[in-house]
Amino acid sequence: MKKINSLKSMFTQSQNWHAEKKTIALVPTMGALHEGHLSLIRSAKNKADKVIVSIFVNPMQFGPNEDYDNYPRTLSEDIKKCRKAGVDVVFSPSVAGMYPDNASTWVNEEVLSQYLCGARRKGHFRGVCTVVLKLFMICSPDIAIFGQKDAQQSIIIKRMVRDLNIPVKIIIAPIKREKDGLAISSRNKYLLPEERKQAAVIYKGLQEIKNWKKNNLSVAQIRRKLIRFIQKEKDIRIDYISIVDINTLSEVSRPNKGDKLLIAIAVFFNKARLIDNIEIKW
Ligand code: AMP
Repeated sequence: MKKINSLKSMFTQSQNWHAEKKTIALVPTMGALHEGHLSLIRSAKNKADKVIVSIFVNPMQFGPNEDYDNYPRTLSEDIKKCRKAGVDVVFSPSVAGMYPDNASTWVNEEVLSQYLCGARRKGHFRGVCTVVLKLFMICSPDIAIFGQKDAQQSIIIKRMVRDLNIPVKIIIAPIKREKDGLAISSRNKYLLPEERKQAAVIYKGLQEIKNWKKNNLSVAQIRRKLIRFIQKEKDIRIDYISIVDINTLSEVSRPNKGDKLLIAIAVFFNKARLIDNIEIKW
């Protein structure tokens, strides 16, 4: 396995693989790799000849009061995990390499980014779209794998790829969870043991929705029940709970039978912000 920091070397490596008619899969990450990331890597290995894992804590997707400085950085452990998983290249560029001092060009998806996390984290998806497009240009993958855990991100990346005619196939991999259902996340490390126990309520609540739906509750009633269910845990603070159309990400009140909905949650434990979601058919 190669470790590459330089953008030019990464570009050259990918071009060489293309010349050899190898297909390339990219798994973009911010490191602190866990089982969720490893499941994306396994999927990448099944789908392409060569696998690149990018590890880059992207400053442009963090707001001024967010956790950029404290975000867990575990590069040497990440490299070991990638080697064991059969990754071909770990690409870990520097911030200075990725963003020239006077960078003034950004990728802005303007509609889907207005909702859910985009409404709370101003500029977040501009940072995400910009870095993902840059990674696509540098690594020129045939396919790229993203996680359903960041459902809005996946939907926005697909929109960007469609709108800008980017020749990369986007694959979305299912959410990997801990035994108690909590979605695995690098940010779970921030939780105190007592908070970690309480965090299981997020997925339990999402699971309850199927029962509530059987009782013919409305979208508004389900949302209220979910808020009450999650607020049972004392240290949790809800950032948002939204029930949205999977295609537009706008809130729904009276969906038609068969409509696909996304139920998305963001909560805080102190400063740690966790997200989760499920898709349902109405
Ligand atoms: P991150 O390093 O948190 O930016 O995540 C990198 C990629 O891994 C994103 O596409 C995430 O959606 C995905 N991911 C993170 N956690 C999980 C998980 N628990 N299950 C599946 N994919 C995940």
